[in-house]
Amino acid sequence: MKSEQARDKCEVNWIVETPDADPAIGKVQWDPVHSFWNGGMLLASIALIPFFSTPAAVAVGLGLTGLFLLLGHSVGFHRLLIHGSFKTSPWLRRFLLWCGTVAGMSGPIWIVRTHDLRDWAQRQDKCHDYLAHRRPMVIDAWWQLHCTLKLEKPPRFDLHALEQSRFIRFLERTWMLQQLPLAALLFWMGGLPFVVWGVFVRVALTVHGHWLVGHLAHRRGPQSWLVKEAGVQAHDVPWAGLITMGEAWHNNHHAFPGSARIGLKPGQSDWGYRFIQLLEKLGLARDVCLPAHMQGRDRKLEVVRASATTSRPRRSEQQPQPVRAASASK
Ligand SMILES: [Zn+2]
Ligand SMILES: [Zn+2]
Repeated sequence: MKSEQARDKCEVNWIVETPDADPAIGKVQWDPVHSFWNGGMLLASIALIPFFSTPAAVAVGLGLTGLFLLLGHSVGFHRLLIHGSFKTSPWLRRFLLWCGTVAGMSGPIWIVRTHDLRDWAQRQDKCHDYLAHRRPMVIDAWWQLHCTLKLEKPPRFDLHALEQSRFIRFLERTWMLQQLPLAALLFWMGGLPFVVWGVFVRVALTVHGHWLVGHLAHRRGPQSWLVKEAGVQAHDVPWAGLITMGEAWHNNHHAFPGSARIGLKPGQSDWGYRFIQLLEKLGLARDVCLPAHMQGRDRKLEVVRASATTSRPRRSEQQPQPVRAASASK
């Protein structure tokens, strides 16, 4: 039963694949809401940092960036909400989803849609350059941080289970406003420098760092596995393993998408999984899914023979060839 559950966790949870959905044909369009938000946070940070920086404010800003990345983005949104890689109590789930919203990228439903569309598209033979991070850095940054992709034939989402939650709908409606209680607390604690670093700089670092690691993770770096028949393969971004709370071991994540643990090899730091283990010890997390529970997953994977850490980085091609089961000849 465990393996049956675990196998489901390798699927793209929130998409219902319709036969005529096409991940390759679509238009990139400007997204004013996220463009103003992401651009505004960056410009405000650049403008305000020279006037509102103290050692304490910098420490608070960087500390909160790590905290909301860990509790919110990595554990709450990615491993719990999107992949369902563990279960927890309703109150803790709400707290982690609130942390994910305060991380500042968007609301929970937008995050699920954006993640799962990309996850689904990258498993197909071919997909739009937007979904593969295939364009040069400057264009990809503009696309991912300021635009959205309108597919001509998108897949269907089944978000009923999310949308029936009043709390999730509330977070989705108010995701920008969720910065305000934290901003008020920071102002009370340390005045404007705390607000500048604890809100503006933190959100700017989070959204731009997330884009950068996502871009690199589909372009270059070590690989341990290739996913058969997937048009886009992922790479690890070792230098970012620590600061992304383990999310940067993205090659592992493509191989075992439903695993609560992403840093799988010795030396691959994964604070997100460490936190889930702590919750488990405290009796606050259960059904924690790991690669060992995913029977049959290895049939979809091709092991990259050369040691991932010693081989020359493999660079994704402009038009990567899908890895076919029959052509597994590494
Ligand atoms: Zn990916
Ligand atoms: Zn994922």
